[in-house]
Amino acid sequence: MLPFQERVELTQLNTFGFYSIAERYIKIESVDLLQQLVDHQHHSTDPLLVLGGGSNLILDDEVPGIVAHMRLRGKQLLKVAQDEVLLKVSAGEAWHETVEYAVNQGFYGLENLALIPGTVGAAPIQNIGAYGVELQDRVVSVEVLDIHSNSLHHLTKDQCQFGYRDSLFKSLDPGRYIILSVTFALTRNPTPQLDYLALKEQCEMLAQGVTITPKHVFEAVCAIRQAKLPDPNHLGNVGSFFKNPYVDPSTYAQLMESYPNLVGFVEADKYKLAAGWLIEACGFKGYRSKSVGVYDKQALVLVNYGQGNRAQIEALAGQIYRSVLERFGVALEVEPRYYPALILSE
Ligand SMILES: Cc1cc2nc3c(=O)[nH]c(=O)nc-3n(C[C@H](O)[C@H](O)[C@H](O)COP(=O)(O)OP(=O)(O)OC[C@H]3O[C@@H](n4cnc5c(N)ncnc54)[C@H](O)[C@@H]3O)c2cc1C
Repeated sequence: MLPFQERVELTQLNTFGFYSIAERYIKIESVDLLQQLVDHQHHSTDPLLVLGGGSNLILDDEVPGIVAHMRLRGKQLLKVAQDEVLLKVSAGEAWHETVEYAVNQGFYGLENLALIPGTVGAAPIQNIGAYGVELQDRVVSVEVLDIHSNSLHHLTKDQCQFGYRDSLFKSLDPGRYIILSVTFALTRNPTPQLDYLALKEQCEMLAQGVTITPKHVFEAVCAIRQAKLPDPNHLGNVGSFFKNPYVDPSTYAQLMESYPNLVGFVEADKYKLAAGWLIEACGFKGYRSKSVGVYDKQALVLVNYGQGNRAQIEALAGQIYRSVLERFGVALEVEPRYYPALILSE
């Protein structure tokens, strides 16, 4: 018998802090138990949600089926050389603590991704990114359990098909693979990535004239994020609610004519627009509707003032989507995952 618990409250297990009840819940602390669960699923029609830190999920009041809470723990150093450190980390480890561990050991490469909530196992799902670095820049391979065959595999970085807030796990074959561990390629050579001006300035301030180290980068990223983003422990949120949309060069040129302050960056043959700017320009920054709203310091972040729920967020997100579409002709895409999935109606 699998150790299911019935009707478990998930309110503390999602960073929006939405009240939510899982029909059945199971804590996954071993690969063996996970394989037993997958075996069980082969004879069941119950939906399965793998839950990490709940920081990229919008849960409904009732979550049907099974919630498997990923709690696999452990870190393993596979190689330690000056130029290359291979670090394998289990899926249930906390992301930020992993970054902090690496920096403290003198293993560099993850410091720009400090203070992102959630687990290591969820990081490849949307190829987390911040301050000029994406997970894909540091990943060697991802160990998975393939639900179809209930067998373990190692996917190379290329097989993961990473893109902007995207991967094989999210878009091409969602739900097929449960991530068990991620192996990172880091280095002991300090090579700070300071492409973001605000980050460079904060690092220079912290370093006070000495050479900037990855530790400075780690501290600077934490300071900037703490000043800019709401702490989910105090104000429920899931970070950026919308992806930054891409437009083609001619659309960008037209928009620039009408809105010379528009914030956008050229990327290959496209332009990436700052979704936060578009939302703010529509007047939503600091806007509140019922118990949810738009964060007053960053319009890309939607927040729960305490009694909010998924229906309220869905309504607010719809309102923002329509305003941005009407004004700029740009369709925003939601970054976090609604679970259960949204049923779109006309
Ligand atoms: C304040 C704040 C700031 C944020 N900043 C950033 C940022 O800068 N950059 C960024 O990219 N994201 C950011 N996020 C979003 C979020 O933290 C990341 O997407 C994170 O990786 C989600 O991890 P999680 O463990 O909480 O995943 P969950 O929310 O628990 O799950 C997210 C998805 O991954 C799936 N999943 C989880 N674990 C596994 C697994 N082991 N195997 C298979 N599927 C799995 C779930 O089923 C779900 O579909 C932020 C969120 C918050 C609240």
